[in-house]
Amino acid sequence: MKSGDIKPRVLTILGATGTIGVNTLDVVARHPDRFEVFALTGATQVERMLEQCRTHRPRFAVMSEPAAAAALRARVAAEGLAVEVLEGTAALTEVATAPEVDTLMAAIVGAAGLPATLAAAQAGKRILLANKETLVVSGQLFMDAIAASGAELLPIDSEHNAIFQALPRDFSGDFQQAGVKALWLTASGGPFRTLSAEAIAAATPAQAVAHPNWVMGKKISVDSASLMNKGLEVIEARWLFNARPEQIKVVVHPQSIVHSMVEYADGSVIAQMGTPDMRTPIAYALGFPERIEAGVSALELMGRQLTFEAPDTARFPCLQLAFDALAAGGNAAAVLNAANEVAVARFLDGAVPFPAIAASIAHTLDALAGGAADTLDDLLEADRQARSVADAYLGALRP
Ligand code: NAD
Ligand code: MG
Repeated sequence: MKSGDIKPRVLTILGATGTIGVNTLDVVARHPDRFEVFALTGATQVERMLEQCRTHRPRFAVMSEPAAAAALRARVAAEGLAVEVLEGTAALTEVATAPEVDTLMAAIVGAAGLPATLAAAQAGKRILLANKETLVVSGQLFMDAIAASGAELLPIDSEHNAIFQALPRDFSGDFQQAGVKALWLTASGGPFRTLSAEAIAAATPAQAVAHPNWVMGKKISVDSASLMNKGLEVIEARWLFNARPEQIKVVVHPQSIVHSMVEYADGSVIAQMGTPDMRTPIAYALGFPERIEAGVSALELMGRQLTFEAPDTARFPCLQLAFDALAAGGNAAAVLNAANEVAVARFLDGAVPFPAIAASIAHTLDALAGGAADTLDDLLEADRQARSVADAYLGALRP
């Protein structure tokens, strides 16, 4: 197709100032004829958002923090940029669901991304989903909203993007019919893969965020160190692909070259491989069903060793907690997610040691799992209660 024939996709990027947001804009900038940026959102990073406004000229820039919005508004006015600055969380939903927008990159971190992403699902947008916490908290509700509106859901998480690529294009969620036996999620094992339990117990936030293969936001980096990231991804896979828990397997693959695999009834295992660079899954989803240039360096396989090992749930109990929450159903995954968010923030602040993350999640699940989870209000209430229970538990740990 000539470039002149392409109708540009109109994009809102939630979480534009984060790692996924920046990578998304990098791919977008390589294809000025394909994409138009309608809105960018951030929370507090005024300088980075200003820079993004200069480069990408969105119609709207949203800062969820009103003070940051005021600062940005002044800077935008001083430079004479034609960007309207909005503030607050309601504005996130406005720019995610605006009628002009056809594609949403959902890349806010945590359950904070849920309301706007769910609203976009209800509005029938094409959703590029990086914000895995949305699916963990509201899986059934979110997938029902996608089905009801006819929205299109494309996974950005590298593992799920890999599985999406390795499944038949017309996969409907019926494993039997598609001859799919299992989904294999690869895990790097994170920065603590080879550490003893004692060394993990003494780990600092700086060690936890130093991921061997990927550059990511702090929260997901800590999740990778605890293997909670893989646990959240197991729950994410359950909803994205309609998998039963026993059809989802986790294998540790420290090189992060095989991004995940699909095992078929005939013994075939189809893997997607590549250089660990989030621009690959982002470009795949942005261009879908076409393949577009992503700026990613070619995979160099000569002389590389690819290894695989079983995850160790004794040193990394968070992975098992996620499987347990999935088995429990109801509000358990929302509780797990909220308790984890609170514990990770406390750990990053230096207030609690690393093992307190798993301990506080287990405690919070014991206290709250089993509650109602039928409506968004139920889930937001589970999230709120879990934050308060985890907070109290962690507060009592302090010296
Ligand atoms: P990040 O911390 O780098 O960026 C987070 C973004 O969310 C920022 O733009 C920030 O301004 C915004 N944000 C944070 N709190 C907010 C709030 N309360 N309200 C509104 N906006 C808020 O995180 P990231 O690494 O880009 O990850 C984003 C999401 O993508 C996460 O859900 C993560 O699990 C997922 N993900 C990331 C990667 C990766 O390689 N970074 C890979 C797979 C999935
Ligand atoms: Mg991932």
